[in-house]
Amino acid sequence: MTGGQDILKDSARNKSTAFSRQEREKYGLRGLLPYAVADLETQKMRALENMRRKAYDIEKYIFLNALLERNQVLFYRTLIDNIEELMPLIYTPTVGQACKEFAQIFRRAQGFYITPEDRGEIHKILGNWHEDDIRMIVVTDGERILGLGDLGASGMGIPIGKLSLYVAAAGIHPKHCLPVMLDVGTNNQEIRSDPLYLGYPQPRITGDAYDDLVEEFVAAVQQRYPRALIQFEDFLTPNAYKLLNRYRDRVLCFNDDIQGTAAVALSGVYASTRISGLNFKDLKIMFLGAGSAATGIADLMTSAFEAEGLPNEDARRRLWFVDINGLVVDGRTDLLPHNLPYAHKENQLNFVDAINHIKPHILIGATGAPGTFTEEAIRSMAANHARPAIFALSNPTSRAECTAEQAYEWSDGRAIFVSGSPFDPVTYKGTQLRPGQGNNAYIFPGIGLGALACGATRVTDKMFLSAARSLAAQVEQVQIDQGTLYPPLTQLQDVSRGIAQAVAETAIYDGVASMASKKDVETYLNNNWYDATYT
Ligand code: NAD
Repeated sequence: MTGGQDILKDSARNKSTAFSRQEREKYGLRGLLPYAVADLETQKMRALENMRRKAYDIEKYIFLNALLERNQVLFYRTLIDNIEELMPLIYTPTVGQACKEFAQIFRRAQGFYITPEDRGEIHKILGNWHEDDIRMIVVTDGERILGLGDLGASGMGIPIGKLSLYVAAAGIHPKHCLPVMLDVGTNNQEIRSDPLYLGYPQPRITGDAYDDLVEEFVAAVQQRYPRALIQFEDFLTPNAYKLLNRYRDRVLCFNDDIQGTAAVALSGVYASTRISGLNFKDLKIMFLGAGSAATGIADLMTSAFEAEGLPNEDARRRLWFVDINGLVVDGRTDLLPHNLPYAHKENQLNFVDAINHIKPHILIGATGAPGTFTEEAIRSMAANHARPAIFALSNPTSRAECTAEQAYEWSDGRAIFVSGSPFDPVTYKGTQLRPGQGNNAYIFPGIGLGALACGATRVTDKMFLSAARSLAAQVEQVQIDQGTLYPPLTQLQDVSRGIAQAVAETAIYDGVASMASKKDVETYLNNNWYDATYT
């Protein structure tokens, strides 16, 4: 029998001042709480007021984390009901700062840490985790945290933040979620030598040692949590591809930076045609940055063009890349394997010359390099097309290729602007323009939920394609009229549920689901939805 004090310390059971008189009697809580019995709404109001009093976003982040540790229901209820205000705090951009300062702001361990010293024992130590029915795992090795680089174990804020969004956006119960840090060391000398650094303070393990550790982790998860979906997050591009290619056909997994980003961008591109009036299959798209995010988008777009009837080669010819060394063309010797399908026969041009020569309708930035959408580049886009679409996807805000204001200003208000991190609306010559946020949070919760709801054994590309279509279809005309390509975040739960249904149907159709019908999926969604209320 646990005492009242223990219940108050257990975030999953603590209702704090919302415990009724009877409950206070029953659980030995009398005397441990002030007299008033508050309801969840009142508690939420108090929590919000407390949070808003903090002067800095990082302090709000710390406050929200502490709230989660105190009272799980109150944290998620507050997050769900105030998702527009709180998402930028628990996720990008503030989570970027929280990761950078992880060692300084650390209070209490959350999630699961695996280091090279756990080799041979990962299955055993997973037994230390208190929950047996884990369904969603978000794992990172911290080597490419947002656009911030190698933060080692300090990157743990990312899996934690993403899983909070699974709960808030897709109704997945927190007890089914497990954030994992594969702490294989860090090559970031500065944080490694910080006396406060909390990770494995060695250079990163690489090669077979790295691959074997990941393999052991995946095998241990499959053994201990056979239903779990593994979401790979913020791995450095070569590892991101290697792991995705190794596991996608044998494990229920996906890489959000590659596939989730792809679906959210594709959805934005679909929606942009409702503003530009162009036919999707006539579009030419140029990417600045040729890493995992941009290539993932291009790969999914290739499938989307193919679905419109274009042969593979014609589909790829619509997609052009510019990286740090200029236009990606077939004569270059410095390209990585994932660049080769898009290395077309063409002269090697610089970015602006490439825009003027190829005349893309859509420019997508995924460089992590701020300011790279220069005035000249945006003006060239605007000179070529009436409604150029500008996607500045790099996170956090400080890394965006350009700001919303710049995109509107330099295109005389004609750009359709999308960013990775949120930008405020901009008033341009008296008209209010609302930048869309191409946030992966529109996609990954629905993908994960859909996969769980149909008992998927794999996450296929077609599932991402249907997620993108479903998201684009959920953008209402009122958003399109304001130049916004995504639904409001306030509709995130409905959006995720809609995506989950579409994804599950595709999985069933593709034969990678263990549930047989839409009805089974509905039943799962209805019976498993976590809605953050006290029981
Ligand atoms: P990456 O390191 O794999 O790729 C970066 C690419 O950018 C490389 O090809 C590099 O050559 C190129 N690059 C860097 N500086 C450049 C410059 N000055 N000019 C031209 N090219 C340049 O990284 P990634 O995983 O592809 O992520 C890139 C960015 O995309 C990150 O900032 C990340 O936050 C962002 N991203 C956004 C979303 C989203 O908003 N939905 C999702 C995933 C990633």
